[in-house]
Amino acid sequence: QKKKLSKLKKTPAITQDGVEIKLLANIELPEDTAHAMDAGASGVGLFRSEFLFMERSGHEHKLPTEDEQFAAYKAAVTGMKGRPVTIRTLDVGADKPLEVSDHQILNPALGLRAIRYCLSEPQLFMTQLRAILRASAFGPVKMLIPMLAHSMEIEQSLALITQAKAELSAEGIAFDAAIPVGAMIEIPAAALSLPMFVKKLDFLSIGTNDLIQYTLAIDRADHEVAHLYDDLHPAILQLMQMIVSTADKAEIPVSICGGMAGDIRLTRLLIAMGYRELSMPAALLPEIKQAVLNTRLENLQAPLKRILRSFDPLQIRELLAAMEQAG
Ligand code: PEP
Ligand code: MG
Repeated sequence: QKKKLSKLKKTPAITQDGVEIKLLANIELPEDTAHAMDAGASGVGLFRSEFLFMERSGHEHKLPTEDEQFAAYKAAVTGMKGRPVTIRTLDVGADKPLEVSDHQILNPALGLRAIRYCLSEPQLFMTQLRAILRASAFGPVKMLIPMLAHSMEIEQSLALITQAKAELSAEGIAFDAAIPVGAMIEIPAAALSLPMFVKKLDFLSIGTNDLIQYTLAIDRADHEVAHLYDDLHPAILQLMQMIVSTADKAEIPVSICGGMAGDIRLTRLLIAMGYRELSMPAALLPEIKQAVLNTRLENLQAPLKRILRSFDPLQIRELLAAMEQAG
């Protein structure tokens, strides 16, 4: 079985009726690009840059310097040998605490995390933006901003990126002036106000881990409520369908980089909804590719309609099983 899967490495993920699904890898450190390449990923869909900022005990500086970050981002870019690398800006807070942060946080999941933290520490953010831009001179890089929900946050982020570009230009340092900038859609408010995002950004990527957490009000790290963390909750399915339909109409690319993208139970459902780009841990990529290769999309439209019309969790599961049979 393993051998067969590794043979799939060079085969593109195309459904039986000829629709290509881009399968990308999630990475945490530049070294992970080796696994991504090995799994046949068409790029990195999510580089969780916060891992460079956490667990700094062995390092000289408490936070990575611009040069240290640049070296890491560049290593990821060269490691992917011309395939695109989506670098997410710092997503600290909640389940990913920063050692130097001295903020008193009442409710970490709802507090000063991710882009909110970065906008409150513009100097720290600027260091990262400059490092990512510098890496974009060495191969295709996209920049992804986590936890956006407010128009003001989009504008402030874009203004800081513009400022970082101006600084680098003035210093004669190379970068990709047309670097695509995208938003993580992982707060229900963002999913419900996509038109706010589509005009200002180049692409969207859905963080289903947080989208589920915030939609269902279930702490994703709390074992006592883990049984209620349900990616098949009708609210989640409605949101996921709404996001891809709205993005398609607005002609803005949308991918999924949260856990749903690497869940083989959901592959057919997601591509039936219209998703064409899935980013996941590299180890899951071969089996997801196999599922894509075994799927005929045109057979899934009727089962999908039934699933989206159902608000009965048990029936949704039965219909999903029927979708597996539908091919
Ligand atoms: C997500 O929220 O789904 C996501 C991809 O980001 P993280 O898991 O790092 O919060
Ligand atoms: Mg997230």
